Amino acid sequence: MHRSMCRVQSGPFVYYTCRRLPVRHAFTTKYGGVSTGHCESLNLGFSRGDEEASVRENYRRLAEALGVDEKRFTLTRQIHETEVSVVGEEQVGMGLHRPMAWRSDAIVTALPDTPLCGFYADCVVTLLYDPATHTAGVAHAGWRGMAGGILPKTVEVMVARLGARRESLIAVLGPSIRQECFETDADVPEAMERLLGVAVRPYIREKGAKFHVDLQGIGVKLLRDAGLAPENVIDSGLCTMCHSDEFWSHRATRGVRGVQGGVICL
Ligand SMILES: [Zn+2]
Repeated sequence: MHRSMCRVQSGPFVYYTCRRLPVRHAFTTKYGGVSTGHCESLNLGFSRGDEEASVRENYRRLAEALGVDEKRFTLTRQIHETEVSVVGEEQVGMGLHRPMAWRSDAIVTALPDTPLCGFYADCVVTLLYDPATHTAGVAHAGWRGMAGGILPKTVEVMVARLGARRESLIAVLGPSIRQECFETDADVPEAMERLLGVAVRPYIREKGAKFHVDLQGIGVKLLRDAGLAPENVIDSGLCTMCHSDEFWSHRATRGVRGVQGGVICL
């Protein structure tokens, strides 16, 4: 785990934060909610086979634990693409209190008191914050989104639409499946090299007939290439599959699971 990361336990609630982010935020774990069965206990997904009422109660408890307004929770819709949307007042509550009207794996905002939430259970959720302009974002990336450049794209949208500054922007890559556990066939490294060029080669290791891809390493590189200062790009270092006692891992559960959230709120 990166030295700036903290494991926070408050009652039944367990989540991770990063000391570099001076705003309300969290990477949630399985713990702190009311869901039962394969989604026990803090599932934040409505499409995981959980009771809707339990998921809503989980959001209420999460909001209470983080001191944010539950009515203003605004969610990503994750389809492994690279669309980035700006959350204005008309979009607040999307996905929880308003029908989802976008297909955006990343959302960004300058609005205060608006918790943004992206989801993970092996994928990389990155929280972004610019202290100079007080703007924030959350981006979800599996290997497709990472290869498609969703992280630099999110930076571009924050700069172009919200006035964020690359020099001060901070990005924290959350708990996600890491290279030692992320075994793939040749299609994944091939697709990544097609999109990102030979620069990804140092992040791909061959192991027999399989490949192990360092998604976080690629994410860090892409963010630095996008103009972020090296010290402002933080890889949490937590593997969801190695720590599947605390996190849902899509691979460890073979997909029978709840889903965690990466939340940030100005
Ligand atoms: Zn692992």
